[in-house]
Amino acid sequence: MIGGAFDYDAALLEALRRVYGSELPLFLSAIERPSRRLYVRVNTLRIDPGSLLDSLRSRGIRVYRDEELPEALYFPVDGPYQVKDVGLRVVADKHASESVMLGANLYAPGIEDCDPEIKPGAVVSVVSPRGDVVAEGVAKMSCWDMKKRRRGLAVEVHRSIYRAPRLRELPEFSAGYFYPQSLPAMYTTYTLDPQPGEIVVDMCAAPGGKTGHIVEYARGLAYVIAFDHSQKKVKEMQREMERLGHLFAVEIWRTDSRYIDVDYPWLRPHRVLVDPPCTALGVRPKLYDRKSYRDVLASASYQKQFLRVATRIVKVGGVIVYSTCTVTIEENEEVIEDLIRGDPCLEVVDTGIRRGSRGVYGEFKDLYTRFHPHVHDVTGYFIAKIVRKC
Ligand code: SAH
Repeated sequence: MIGGAFDYDAALLEALRRVYGSELPLFLSAIERPSRRLYVRVNTLRIDPGSLLDSLRSRGIRVYRDEELPEALYFPVDGPYQVKDVGLRVVADKHASESVMLGANLYAPGIEDCDPEIKPGAVVSVVSPRGDVVAEGVAKMSCWDMKKRRRGLAVEVHRSIYRAPRLRELPEFSAGYFYPQSLPAMYTTYTLDPQPGEIVVDMCAAPGGKTGHIVEYARGLAYVIAFDHSQKKVKEMQREMERLGHLFAVEIWRTDSRYIDVDYPWLRPHRVLVDPPCTALGVRPKLYDRKSYRDVLASASYQKQFLRVATRIVKVGGVIVYSTCTVTIEENEEVIEDLIRGDPCLEVVDTGIRRGSRGVYGEFKDLYTRFHPHVHDVTGYFIAKIVRKC
């Protein structure tokens, strides 16, 4: 095992070494930290990026334009800072701890445990389930309420390891002016390149990050169908699309996308996005992580099923884009090669992205895009583009 934070089995470390070689320790230490830039995508159907930038800056918020993508703005992430253990502890779940580490407040649903002596007004430490101190703050309710009420603000965070604006608390967020999204995720929609008048299927769409971008990119004039299997996530996607004002342009259908070809035999989209579940090894910051090579293989076989269905539904001449926020060859280059091998009508084409770097394996490696956390200071990401020729 390399680095205390990552409980990855030997086979998984070997798979990572195939990608990163001697740079593996650099990769692992990069994913423990957040990127230096926290990106949002401006909802260009509601506001132009310059106006949003001016309105945020007029309130003293440090925010900048991305060098290339017009709809991408970013906020600098400051830190790391020292946070001390004040004795009274609130244990946040892993997901909540990773947000609090960036300065988010802690809400009751994210709490796993707390010191029974905690009363409103007490100064407390927020710790992860593994015991890492991620922030210091003031309790807004008693420990009893944190556990019983399961809702509301539990700890107002005053000091955290990293600091970035609390995006979801900004009035511009409620107004639907932006969507927090990583830069590589935004590039995925550029590769898909959805045009007005086209039918676009997003097979694993919730919570709708890329769906929203597709709507904006095609200026609200594409017919977008967003599928997802999870009831809870479909509801969340509905709320997000409503917040952005995109419901007029999206059909949201709950389904198991591995059977779209059977359940919706009439569907012939011009473009299909496959952004399936993955091992998320590129996602950062991670306080710790536990995964095995078996997870990678299970994920890869699931991903192949989605892609196969995409090739069955897409129109002749149509485009499929595949993206993941993970870094193994098994879930990326190999998934594409496996697909191409079985169908002479499919062709891998260039993603057209000038940022990041190219693939690391296989015949088509110079056509893929990869983003590396320790090189490009973003989420680890993979993007491929396929065309159905016949
Ligand atoms: N594209 C999204 C993120 C997708 S994460 C965005 O940009 O915001 C992967 C999604 O796949 C999850 O929402 C999960 O619910 C969904 N999923 C998992 N199995 C599925 C299945 N069999 N059919 C459809 N969706 C599935």
